[in-house]
Parts: sequence; C-alpha cells; structure tokens
Amino acid sequence: GPRVVIVGAGIVGCALADELTARGWTRVTVLDQGGPVRTGGSTSHAPGLVFQTAAHPTMTRFARATAAKYAALRVAGRACFRRVGGLEVATTRERLADLRRRHGWATAAGIDSRLLEPAECVGLHPLIERDAVLGGLHVPSDGLAVPLGAAEAQAAAAAARGAEFRHGVRVTGIDTTGGRVRAVETSQGRVAAEVVVAAAGMWGPLLGAMAGVPVPLSPMAHQYAWSTPLRELDVLQKVRGLLDPVGAVLPILRHQDAGLYLREHGDRLGVGTYGHRAMPAEATGLDRPGPDRGEMPSERAFTALDFEPSWAAAQALVPALDDAKVERGVNGLFSFTPDGMPLLGETDVPGFWLAEAVWITHSVGVAQAVASWMVDGVPSLPALPGADGEAGEPEPVDVSAAHHDRFDPALLAPATVRGRSCAAFDEVYAIGHPHAPGPVRPPRAGPFDGRHRELGAVVAERDGWAVPAWFADNADLPEVCEVRPRRAWAARHWSTVAGAEALVVRRAVALVDLTSRHRVDVTGPNALGLLQQLTTSDLDRPVGARTRTLCLDRSGRIRADLDVARLGPEHFAVGAATRLEVRWLAEHALGDVTITDVSAGTCAVGVWGPASGVLLSRLTDPADRRRTADAVHTHVGAVPVLALRGTPAGLDGVELRTSADLGAALWDVLWDAGATLGVVAAGDRAVASLLVEAGHRGIETGIDATLTPAEAGLGHLVDPAKGLFLGRDAALAPPRRRLVTLALDDPGEVVLGDEPVLDGEVCVGRVAAAEAGHTEDLSLALAVVPASSARAGTPLSVEYFGRRLAARVVEREVR
Ligand code: FAD
Repeated sequence: GPRVVIVGAGIVGCALADELTARGWTRVTVLDQGGPVRTGGSTSHAPGLVFQTAAHPTMTRFARATAAKYAALRVAGRACFRRVGGLEVATTRERLADLRRRHGWATAAGIDSRLLEPAECVGLHPLIERDAVLGGLHVPSDGLAVPLGAAEAQAAAAAARGAEFRHGVRVTGIDTTGGRVRAVETSQGRVAAEVVVAAAGMWGPLLGAMAGVPVPLSPMAHQYAWSTPLRELDVLQKVRGLLDPVGAVLPILRHQDAGLYLREHGDRLGVGTYGHRAMPAEATGLDRPGPDRGEMPSERAFTALDFEPSWAAAQALVPALDDAKVERGVNGLFSFTPDGMPLLGETDVPGFWLAEAVWITHSVGVAQAVASWMVDGVPSLPALPGADGEAGEPEPVDVSAAHHDRFDPALLAPATVRGRSCAAFDEVYAIGHPHAPGPVRPPRAGPFDGRHRELGAVVAERDGWAVPAWFADNADLPEVCEVRPRRAWAARHWSTVAGAEALVVRRAVALVDLTSRHRVDVTGPNALGLLQQLTTSDLDRPVGARTRTLCLDRSGRIRADLDVARLGPEHFAVGAATRLEVRWLAEHALGDVTITDVSAGTCAVGVWGPASGVLLSRLTDPADRRRTADAVHTHVGAVPVLALRGTPAGLDGVELRTSADLGAALWDVLWDAGATLGVVAAGDRAVASLLVEAGHRGIETGIDATLTPAEAGLGHLVDPAKGLFLGRDAALAPPRRRLVTLALDDPGEVVLGDEPVLDGEVCVGRVAAAEAGHTEDLSLALAVVPASSARAGTPLSVEYFGRRLAARVVEREVR
C-alpha cells in the first residue's frame, strides 16, 4: 500500500490504523501532538456510552460494528467493552411514542430491543424513580466502551502489523505541491506521504485549512459530572456481583426529555448533559492557555451554574442522587457538525482524506468504511457474524449522509457552520421529524422565490435552497376535500393542500419549481467518452435526445441517477437530484472534458400535467412544436429556454430551463397563459407523492449506494451491450434483494421512512421512502426486501410506533 499519515491518535485515528493495516496497507504512520494514549483530545475523557440505535440507518450500522469489535477486544487482559445494555426512558407521552419509533429503527437494523413498562425499567435499573417514567426501551447489546483502552488495543494491533505511532509531533502543514498530497510538515520535520487522513477530532478545521479544504465542524462544550459516592450503588454492585474493570453493572441510561445520560463509575454516577446552552469554541484557540482551560486542550473549566437544571433533572429520575453532590465536572469539547453527522471521504485535494466528527459509538464502523473506501475504492462494512458465528462477505454501506462534501457552499461560512452546529447540539436528543423545516430560512433562493412568497409558500430546505413544501394559497382548491387527512405524526409538517396539489398535477396542470436540483454542463472533446465510461446507457444518441441513466461504482452499486440531454456533439446538459451525484462525475473526469455546475445561475420549472401541452401551445411557435426532439432550445413567450420533454413522475410535461435573470419572466408568462386552465403551483411534497405513486425509484425515493440497478428495479437502465463502463460486470450479478412498493391495507396510515418491514415475525427490510398516493388513495412505501419476499401480492407488515400495519407488495410500473 501507499505511505499513509494519519493525523490524530484518538479513537478514530487508532481504529483507522488498525483497519487499514488489517487490509494490507501497513505503511502507516500515526502522528499526535499529545502524549501516548491520553492525548488530550476528546477521546481522553469520553465516558464511552454506546447507544447503537440512531435515526440514520448508516449510523446504526457504524455503531453495531463498534459494539461488535470492542466486545471482543482486550488490552492487557482487560475488556474494552461491557454489554451492560442501554435503557432509554420516557417521562412524556411524546417520548414514549418516540421510543416505539426507535424500537422500529433498532429492529430494522437487526438490533434486538424491547419496550418496557415502568416497573420493568426499575427492575433493570433499580435507582430509577418508578413514578417518574412512563416506559422505556431496552437494548441489551448496547454498552460501555473503554475509549482509551479500545484506542490502545487498536493501536497495538496496528503497530504489530507495522504501523508507527509518534507522539508529541504536531502537524503544521500539508505539502500539496502539484495538486496532490506529498507530505506533512511537522514540529519535528517533514514526513512524506501519499495519503494523509485528518482524524484530528475538533482540530479538523485547522488540518483542512492546511490543504485549503473546508471542514465544517464546530468544537462544542458538553458537560459531564461525577457524583459523590452513593451508598445505594455500592450495595447494588455487591448484590449484582463483582465489579469488572469497566466499573458498571447497571444499563447505561438515557433521559432524553431532560437531555441527560447516566452511567456508573464504581459507586459514583456520571451524568452527561446536552440540556445546557450551546457553548461553541474556536478550533484556532484550542491549544491556547487561558483561565477557563482545563488540564487538556479538550477541557474547559466546569461551569456549575449551567449544570444545575440537569442535576435537578437527574435527581428527579434517580432519587439516590438527592443526598449526593457534584464532586467534579468538566466542560468537555468535541466536534459538532451542522447536521450531527460525521465528515468522511477524500477531499478535492487527491490523497487528503477526512475522518472527522466521529463519536466513540461510531468509531469502528467509520474506520472500516473509510479503510475499505481507501483500499478497495468502495466503502463497506464486514458482515457481522450470523447465527452460525461466521462473518460473511463485506457489505456496501451508503456514506452519502456522512460525506464531507454534502453541504452546499452557501452553508460553509464559519458563522453558518457554528450557528447550525449549535442548533445540532440543541437537537441531539430532540424528537426529530423527517419533514421538519430547519431552524433558519435557507440562504439560497431561486428566481421564483418572490412568486412563491406571494402564493404563501410553506418553506422547506433542500441542499441549502428554500423550496416550497406546499402553498397556503392552494387551500381553497376543490381537490383539498378529496385528500384523506392524516393522523398524528404523519400529519405533522404536512397538509392536505400538498395532496390537492398532486391531484391537480394529475388532472390539469401545475408549475413545479425544480431549481434546487443540480444542472451541469459537460462539454469538450471527451464529454461523450467520459459519460459513456461512467453510465449504464448508450449516450451516443442524436443531438436532442434525453436519456435517464445511472452511474455505478466498481461494485455495481448506484451512485448517481442522471438525466442527460445531448445538446451538441460535445455538449451534454446533465441533471441530478443531489450534490454528491455531480461530485461523482467530477471525481471521475479525465481527459479533455469540462464539468460546470450551472445550477446557481439558472433555474428550472416543470410544467406538469395533462394540460401542460395546451398551456405550452399558447406560448410556443407552431414551427417549434413540430420539432420532435426531447431536448430543444426554443422560446416560451419571449423567454429563451431549454425545453426537456418528459417528467420523472411519468406524467405529461416538460422541464423548462433558463438563466436565473429570466426566471420571473418565465414564471409569469406560464402563470398567465395557464390561468384559464386552472394552473397552480405544486410544492415538493406533492412531487414526492407523485414520484412514489408513479413507481419512481430515485436517490430521494429509495435507491442508495447499497443497491445494484437490478435490485433497485432499474435493470432496464443498464445496457450491457454498449461496451465497457464502470461497474458493468458487477451490475450483472443476479439480485439478492429487491426494492419493492408496498401498499398498506389501511390508506389512512402513512409511514415516513426507516420503519422495519416484517414477513411474519421476521424483519426482512426497512422502509426507504414512503408517501400517500392521492390519485388512487393508497398509502405506499418503498422497501428493500429479500428476493423471496418480493413477489407481488406477498403479505408483509410495517411496524409503526409499535403497531403492525398490514401491507402487500404491489406491482407498479417501475420508472
Ligand atoms: P480526538 O480524541 O480529539 O483525537 C484527535 C487527536 O488529534 C488528538 O489526540 C489531537 O492531539 C490530535 N491532533 C489534532 N491536531 C493535530 C495536529 N495538528 N498534529 C498532531 N496531532 C493533532 N462519544 C460517545 O460515543 N459516547 C460517549 O459517551 C461520549 N461522551 C462524551 C463525553 C464528553 C465529555 C466528551 C467531550 C465527548 C464525548 N463523546 C462521546 C464524543 C467522543 O469523545 C468524540 O467524538 C471522540 O472521542 C472523537 O475522537 P477523535 O479520535 O476524532 O478525536
């Protein structure tokens, strides 16, 4: 393997060194400015609670990998993990309901868990005040890691394979001469490297700055305190058996309604809290001395006043704390990102990688994903041992939600990163709704924004753009009455108006703002060559052709779902839903080809619905209308546009693109010409419903980097006869799983995604996307299930807030 320098010997750097050397990349040097083991970074004082279940399935997989590996790890004969179990309690009705949702997430991830009555919570954790809790969720395989022990054990394993650990060495620069990594400069001289990984925790932004790449994280203080000894705990531990080195017999405890978690330290309790105000720090000032500084750079002096409400809440849950005091505490610093997810992957500087903003909980999964990504080119996780104890083939993992480049540049200003990271801190234990709008209005607005405001747009965020979810002005559409109302959770951040807008698209015509999607020009002598190499379809078609196609990675999994219009022999207009799909193209660009993201200076509006043709005929030249190509430059009224025939939802319609300055004029001319046809504006939620209803499988409707085209039901987009393209052979392997559409028996129940899908009593999959289909009054869900459960008509069920909803696999025309 190449020469690798890992900057940082915290839990992440050590785990990565272990995983890389285990995969044969043994020329690894780990540098840390701090001392051995207790380096002074965040790992040095993390209490090591590992609650595996997370809202994002990839994070749950990362956590499972961590628990599995640390449970088997030992250092100097001592355990690095103890499966004491995790107990989350609810003190409010809302939380109790949320624990049922979390139970579903655990089930979908293959983690055993159980919902408990209050008495059962006390049975597991006798220090809990019975009357304080309404119920709980118990995950027996959660537990306590010994962060420094796990770091040490992994470092030792890496060192045994040849990795070198050097402490007291500060990296001060990254040599990127010639546009790629050559070496790091350090306090002790230069260290040559072909690959450099920043595993520098909250110092990440400083490492990024050395190579000129943004690392959007913010160090934040998080309070953790130790109680004075508790007699009750001492007695309990004697009853429950001898203390092990981890110092705990009780399950780790989460009291999320108060932002708290608790664990034992011998006869003391440790209380961590996210209940206090956000306390961001600057990466540049971390190592500076100051009156508020603790013993280590990741410590700030304990601000006792901030802790008081949390201490009171802890006492209310655990009355044994009533007679105790806060013996000592710390304001410990670690990384927060604007959305709470890690920052992973190779940056725009070839050879410079990030493994940043990672908890102890996710350290192994992240290290395995990043190591396999580096070595094999595709991130994967080793299959966890099955019932037979045998670990299978590595399984691909979708890391797009943790990709370091997922944020729009408009979100990268330091003040924005800090502000959003503070909001993420406040939300750590909040009950998150998948459709909740962000805390602030998104910065990007397209040229239709003014018109949207006039129509009462309810705004959501998509990649930094303000997008209309639905329009309040449509509340008086007659169709509103035909839309089945939703209950409870599904009714939140939704309106029957969104359903009515979808019905108008089906019946008449609507304008759909597509500006927040990405538009890219691929031009140059090698434009066709590059696209042919990267996509599954033959794109050597006549000028004017529009083709939907996929990009695959070398394992044959889908990385991008592109809309490619040929505008000239060497000019293609490419559309994609997300930023990372565009990045995929750019990363693979070779030869004489230019890729220009024109999204910001342009806009796009969909004219969708059966009356779209009539509307457009009022605005276009008859001669132009006779042109049969799918992609043509024409005029709509007086506005020059690129007109692209067809819609992703399989409806009649076109997408019109023009420059941003002409957007308002385009909207107005369409609006005026459509008045007598009853044209309305339709928001993002209507679009989502139309896509699911139409059987569309896209990046936002169920497909991800774990699926091959055949598994996604998109085999028809693969043309094996076209010649070689990336991922071709792997894509032809027979599908093991399938993305299917389920219709719930009760159309009044709408699920929202990530719920487990069961075949009988066995969990066979997870809902990847869901929406109501208003035309047929169906509640639909897309889910990946084994081929054996995928036949049309197969009865399955979806677990939703602890209830089983009957469903059936339905045939839908796959688009
Ligand atoms: P670090 O441990 O900070 O390691 C980064 C290393 O990089 C440091 O050793 C630093 O010296 C080195 N470095 C930085 N810059 C340079 C440079 N220029 N040159 C050389 N070396 C450099 N997580 C959980 O999962 N469960 C918990 O219960 C939990 N509780 C926590 C409680 C507290 C009080 C705190 C503060 C954090 C907690 N966390 C918890 C979070 C967890 O500690 C961190 O997310 C994790 O330790 C980060 O590991 P790391 O290796 O990325 O960073």
